[in-house]
Amino acid sequence: MTPSAQTRQVFAITTLFISDLHLSEEYPEITRLFLSFLRTCAPRARQLYILGDLFEAWLGDDAGDSHSDTVINALQQLHRQGTDIAIMHGNRDFLLGQGFCDQSGCRLITDPTLIELDGKRVLLSHGDILCTDDHDYQKFRRQVRDPGFQKDLLALSVQQRRLQAEQYREKSRKATRMKAQDIMDVNAAAVEQMMDEYQVNCLIHGHTHRPAVHILEDKGIDGRQRIVLGDWGQTGSVLIHDRHGLHLHSFDVTTLNKLAESIAK
Ligand code: MN
Repeated sequence: MTPSAQTRQVFAITTLFISDLHLSEEYPEITRLFLSFLRTCAPRARQLYILGDLFEAWLGDDAGDSHSDTVINALQQLHRQGTDIAIMHGNRDFLLGQGFCDQSGCRLITDPTLIELDGKRVLLSHGDILCTDDHDYQKFRRQVRDPGFQKDLLALSVQQRRLQAEQYREKSRKATRMKAQDIMDVNAAAVEQMMDEYQVNCLIHGHTHRPAVHILEDKGIDGRQRIVLGDWGQTGSVLIHDRHGLHLHSFDVTTLNKLAESIAK
Protein backbone atom coordinates (compact mmCIF):
# COMPACT_ATOMS: atom_id res chain seq x y z
CA MET A 1 0.00 0.00 0.00
CA THR A 2 1.34 3.45 -0.90
CA PRO A 3 1.54 6.11 1.84
CA SER A 4 -1.17 8.14 0.14
CA ALA A 5 -3.53 5.18 0.12
CA GLN A 6 -2.95 4.77 3.87
CA THR A 7 -3.80 8.44 4.42
CA ARG A 8 -7.01 7.97 2.50
CA GLN A 9 -8.02 5.05 4.67
CA VAL A 10 -7.48 6.94 7.90
CA PHE A 11 -9.67 9.86 6.81
CA ALA A 12 -11.82 7.85 4.47
CA ILE A 13 -15.09 9.37 5.59
CA THR A 14 -14.62 13.10 5.16
CA THR A 15 -15.72 15.10 2.12
CA LEU A 16 -15.21 18.86 1.76
CA PHE A 17 -17.13 21.27 -0.48
CA ILE A 18 -15.99 24.78 -1.38
CA SER A 19 -16.81 27.32 -4.10
CA ASP A 20 -16.51 30.96 -5.12
CA LEU A 21 -12.97 31.65 -4.00
CA HIS A 22 -12.54 34.00 -6.94
CA LEU A 23 -8.76 33.71 -6.65
CA SER A 24 -6.80 36.46 -8.33
CA GLU A 25 -3.49 38.25 -7.98
CA GLU A 26 -5.40 41.29 -6.74
CA TYR A 27 -6.39 39.60 -3.47
CA PRO A 28 -3.29 37.71 -2.29
CA GLU A 29 -4.77 37.23 1.22
CA ILE A 30 -7.52 34.98 -0.21
CA THR A 31 -4.95 32.93 -2.11
CA ARG A 32 -2.88 32.65 1.10
CA LEU A 33 -5.95 31.47 3.05
CA PHE A 34 -6.69 28.88 0.35
CA LEU A 35 -3.09 27.61 0.30
CA SER A 36 -3.25 27.22 4.10
CA PHE A 37 -6.58 25.42 3.77
CA LEU A 38 -5.00 23.01 1.25
CA ARG A 39 -2.14 22.30 3.68
CA THR A 40 -4.18 21.92 6.87
CA CYS A 41 -7.79 20.89 6.25
CA ALA A 42 -7.89 19.31 2.81
CA PRO A 43 -5.31 16.50 3.32
CA ARG A 44 -7.56 15.12 6.07
CA ALA A 45 -10.40 14.60 3.61
CA ARG A 46 -10.92 11.78 1.19
CA GLN A 47 -12.47 14.16 -1.30
CA LEU A 48 -12.51 17.86 -2.06
CA TYR A 49 -15.22 19.28 -4.31
CA ILE A 50 -14.68 22.75 -5.79
CA LEU A 51 -18.08 23.85 -7.10
CA GLY A 52 -17.06 26.64 -9.45
CA ASP A 53 -15.40 30.04 -9.51
CA LEU A 54 -12.13 28.86 -8.02
CA PHE A 55 -10.62 31.65 -10.11
CA GLU A 56 -11.96 35.16 -10.65
CA ALA A 57 -11.09 34.71 -14.30
CA TRP A 58 -9.63 31.93 -16.43
CA LEU A 59 -8.64 32.90 -19.95
CA GLY A 60 -7.59 29.42 -21.02
CA ASP A 61 -5.15 26.77 -19.84
CA ASP A 62 -2.46 28.41 -22.00
CA ALA A 63 -2.88 31.78 -20.26
CA GLY A 64 -1.56 30.91 -16.81
CA ASP A 65 0.79 33.08 -14.77
CA SER A 66 2.85 32.73 -11.60
CA HIS A 67 -0.27 33.16 -9.45
CA SER A 68 -2.18 30.34 -11.14
CA ASP A 69 0.99 28.20 -11.14
CA THR A 70 1.19 28.55 -7.36
CA VAL A 71 -2.43 27.39 -6.99
CA ILE A 72 -1.96 24.53 -9.47
CA ASN A 73 1.14 23.28 -7.65
CA ALA A 74 -0.65 23.33 -4.30
CA LEU A 75 -3.57 21.34 -5.75
CA GLN A 76 -1.14 18.86 -7.31
CA GLN A 77 0.53 18.37 -3.94
CA LEU A 78 -2.82 17.68 -2.27
CA HIS A 79 -3.66 15.22 -5.05
CA ARG A 80 -0.35 13.40 -4.46
CA GLN A 81 -1.16 13.22 -0.74
CA GLY A 82 -4.19 11.13 -1.64
CA THR A 83 -7.15 13.53 -1.67
CA ASP A 84 -9.36 13.24 -4.73
CA ILE A 85 -10.11 16.72 -6.12
CA ALA A 86 -13.17 17.30 -8.30
CA ILE A 87 -13.76 20.69 -9.89
CA MET A 88 -16.80 22.17 -11.61
CA HIS A 89 -16.89 25.22 -13.88
CA GLY A 90 -18.27 28.45 -12.48
CA ASN A 91 -19.40 31.43 -14.51
CA ARG A 92 -15.93 32.98 -14.12
CA ASP A 93 -13.70 30.04 -14.93
CA PHE A 94 -15.73 28.15 -17.54
CA LEU A 95 -12.62 27.87 -19.72
CA LEU A 96 -10.82 25.58 -17.25
CA GLY A 97 -9.84 22.62 -19.38
CA GLN A 98 -7.96 19.36 -19.56
CA GLY A 99 -4.60 21.14 -19.44
CA PHE A 100 -5.46 22.58 -16.04
CA CYS A 101 -6.65 19.18 -14.84
CA ASP A 102 -3.49 17.40 -16.04
CA GLN A 103 -1.31 19.90 -14.20
CA SER A 104 -3.31 20.15 -10.98
CA GLY A 105 -4.50 16.56 -10.54
CA CYS A 106 -8.13 17.75 -10.47
CA ARG A 107 -10.87 16.01 -12.41
CA LEU A 108 -13.50 18.08 -14.14
CA ILE A 109 -17.12 17.27 -13.25
CA THR A 110 -20.25 18.43 -15.08
CA ASP A 111 -22.87 20.84 -13.72
CA PRO A 112 -24.92 19.33 -12.17
CA THR A 113 -23.22 16.22 -10.76
CA LEU A 114 -24.98 13.54 -8.73
CA ILE A 115 -23.06 11.94 -5.86
CA GLU A 116 -23.87 9.73 -2.88
CA LEU A 117 -23.25 10.68 0.74
CA ASP A 118 -24.11 8.08 3.38
CA GLY A 119 -26.06 6.24 0.72
CA LYS A 120 -28.19 9.32 -0.05
CA ARG A 121 -28.37 11.02 -3.43
CA VAL A 122 -26.93 14.54 -3.36
CA LEU A 123 -26.85 16.96 -6.28
CA LEU A 124 -23.97 19.41 -6.81
CA SER A 125 -24.19 22.53 -8.96
CA HIS A 126 -22.43 25.86 -9.26
CA GLY A 127 -25.87 27.44 -8.98
CA ASP A 128 -25.93 30.06 -11.71
CA ILE A 129 -28.17 27.86 -13.87
CA LEU A 130 -30.82 28.18 -11.13
CA CYS A 131 -30.93 31.99 -11.29
CA THR A 132 -33.63 31.84 -13.97
CA ASP A 133 -35.17 35.23 -13.09
CA ASP A 134 -32.08 36.89 -14.53
CA HIS A 135 -32.96 36.49 -18.21
CA ASP A 136 -30.04 38.55 -19.53
CA TYR A 137 -27.61 36.46 -17.55
CA GLN A 138 -29.11 33.14 -18.74
CA LYS A 139 -28.76 34.36 -22.33
CA PHE A 140 -25.13 35.23 -21.68
CA ARG A 141 -24.60 31.87 -19.97
CA ARG A 142 -25.93 29.93 -22.95
CA GLN A 143 -23.56 31.85 -25.19
CA VAL A 144 -20.38 31.36 -23.19
CA ARG A 145 -21.11 27.68 -22.45
CA ASP A 146 -21.47 26.97 -26.17
CA PRO A 147 -18.51 24.84 -27.35
CA GLY A 148 -18.30 26.73 -30.66
CA PHE A 149 -18.12 30.08 -28.86
CA GLN A 150 -15.44 28.75 -26.53
CA LYS A 151 -13.42 27.40 -29.43
CA ASP A 152 -13.51 30.79 -31.16
CA LEU A 153 -12.54 32.51 -27.93
CA LEU A 154 -9.57 30.20 -27.35
CA ALA A 155 -8.40 30.83 -30.94
CA LEU A 156 -7.78 34.49 -30.01
CA SER A 157 -4.45 35.57 -28.55
CA VAL A 158 -4.21 35.69 -24.76
CA GLN A 159 -4.01 39.48 -25.00
CA GLN A 160 -7.23 39.64 -27.04
CA ARG A 161 -8.99 37.29 -24.61
CA ARG A 162 -7.88 39.46 -21.70
CA LEU A 163 -9.32 42.52 -23.39
CA GLN A 164 -12.61 40.81 -24.10
CA ALA A 165 -12.90 39.44 -20.55
CA GLU A 166 -12.39 42.97 -19.21
CA GLN A 167 -15.20 44.26 -21.46
CA TYR A 168 -17.55 41.48 -20.31
CA ARG A 169 -16.74 42.18 -16.69
CA GLU A 170 -17.41 45.91 -17.07
CA LYS A 171 -20.75 45.13 -18.73
CA SER A 172 -21.62 42.66 -15.97
CA ARG A 173 -20.68 45.16 -13.23
CA LYS A 174 -22.97 47.78 -14.74
CA ALA A 175 -25.84 45.30 -15.21
CA THR A 176 -25.46 43.93 -11.65
CA ARG A 177 -25.80 47.42 -10.15
CA MET A 178 -29.14 47.87 -11.91
CA LYS A 179 -30.63 44.53 -10.88
CA ALA A 180 -32.79 43.83 -7.85
CA GLN A 181 -31.18 41.49 -5.29
CA ASP A 182 -33.90 38.85 -5.73
CA ILE A 183 -33.26 38.51 -9.45
CA MET A 184 -29.71 37.39 -8.74
CA ASP A 185 -30.78 34.67 -6.30
CA VAL A 186 -31.93 31.18 -7.27
CA ASN A 187 -35.51 30.71 -8.42
CA ALA A 188 -37.48 28.43 -6.03
CA ALA A 189 -39.33 26.65 -8.84
CA ALA A 190 -36.08 26.02 -10.74
CA VAL A 191 -34.58 24.49 -7.59
CA GLU A 192 -37.58 22.23 -7.08
CA GLN A 193 -37.62 21.18 -10.72
CA MET A 194 -33.94 20.23 -10.69
CA MET A 195 -34.29 18.31 -7.42
CA ASP A 196 -37.33 16.46 -8.79
CA GLU A 197 -35.53 15.64 -12.02
CA TYR A 198 -32.57 14.09 -10.21
CA GLN A 199 -34.68 12.69 -7.39
CA VAL A 200 -32.61 14.19 -4.60
CA ASN A 201 -33.45 15.62 -1.20
CA CYS A 202 -30.20 17.54 -0.91
CA LEU A 203 -28.74 20.16 -3.25
CA ILE A 204 -25.37 21.84 -2.66
CA HIS A 205 -24.43 24.93 -4.66
CA GLY A 206 -22.55 28.22 -4.55
CA HIS A 207 -22.60 31.28 -6.81
CA THR A 208 -25.05 33.50 -4.92
CA HIS A 209 -22.62 34.26 -2.07
CA ARG A 210 -25.44 33.75 0.43
CA PRO A 211 -24.20 30.90 2.65
CA ALA A 212 -27.10 29.13 4.34
CA VAL A 213 -28.78 25.83 5.02
CA HIS A 214 -32.34 26.06 3.71
CA ILE A 215 -34.89 23.48 4.76
CA LEU A 216 -37.44 23.31 1.96
CA GLU A 217 -41.11 22.39 2.10
CA ASP A 218 -41.96 18.86 3.18
CA LYS A 219 -40.93 16.49 0.43
CA GLY A 220 -39.75 13.01 1.19
CA ILE A 221 -39.24 11.59 4.66
CA ASP A 222 -36.17 13.67 5.58
CA GLY A 223 -37.41 16.92 4.10
CA ARG A 224 -35.45 18.75 1.49
CA GLN A 225 -32.27 20.69 2.01
CA ARG A 226 -30.59 23.33 -0.13
CA ILE A 227 -27.13 24.16 1.16
CA VAL A 228 -25.45 27.30 -0.18
CA LEU A 229 -21.69 27.59 0.12
CA GLY A 230 -20.22 31.01 0.93
CA ASP A 231 -17.69 32.98 -1.08
CA TRP A 232 -14.17 33.56 0.23
CA GLY A 233 -12.86 36.91 1.43
CA GLN A 234 -11.64 37.80 4.91
CA THR A 235 -13.10 34.43 5.81
CA GLY A 236 -13.33 31.14 3.95
CA SER A 237 -16.38 28.91 3.71
CA VAL A 238 -16.44 25.12 3.69
CA LEU A 239 -19.13 22.47 3.95
CA ILE A 240 -17.84 19.40 5.78
CA HIS A 241 -19.42 15.98 5.51
CA ASP A 242 -18.23 13.44 8.07
CA ARG A 243 -19.73 10.90 10.41
CA HIS A 244 -21.64 13.71 12.15
CA GLY A 245 -23.41 14.75 8.94
CA LEU A 246 -23.16 18.00 6.99
CA HIS A 247 -21.84 21.19 8.59
CA LEU A 248 -21.27 24.59 7.02
CA HIS A 249 -18.28 26.43 8.51
CA SER A 250 -16.76 29.84 8.10
CA PHE A 251 -13.13 30.32 9.19
CA ASP A 252 -10.17 32.67 8.94
CA VAL A 253 -6.40 32.30 9.34
CA THR A 254 -6.67 32.25 13.13
CA THR A 255 -9.35 29.52 13.30
CA LEU A 256 -8.08 27.36 10.43
CA ASN A 257 -5.95 25.01 12.54
CA LYS A 258 -8.77 24.41 14.99
CA LEU A 259 -11.06 23.56 12.10
CA ALA A 260 -8.46 21.16 10.68
CA GLU A 261 -8.21 19.37 14.04
CA SER A 262 -11.98 18.98 14.17
CA ILE A 263 -11.89 17.27 10.77
CA ALA A 264 -9.45 14.65 12.05
CA LYS A 265 -11.69 13.49 14.90
MN1 MN B 1 -20.46 32.23 -9.73
